[in-house]
Amino acid sequence: MTSRQIRCKKCGHWNQLNHDDQQCSNCKSPLIEVSASEVASLERRKTAGELTVKILESDAWYTVIFKKIYNAVTLVFISIIAFFLWLFAASPG
Ligand SMILES: [Zn+2]
Repeated sequence: MTSRQIRCKKCGHWNQLNHDDQQCSNCKSPLIEVSASEVASLERRKTAGELTVKILESDAWYTVIFKKIYNAVTLVFISIIAFFLWLFAASPG
């Protein structure tokens, strides 16, 4: 088995790298820094498949109503599209 070593950016201590989210054994700072844009990109990829808008606890009442209407319209729209796709697929010729 090959072992990887990574140097701490803060204190310069060499660490044996076993997993990606490891901390420095000397100063406890994260060895592999994840940039803010990377975190945002991961969040975007996580929610990319979701068609509905998430309703948050912190949303104002009018925002909640707007989001609920948007989600309902999206659901109806997808249902209509799915129905027509089924119709074309089921019809002969
Ligand atoms: Zn360190």
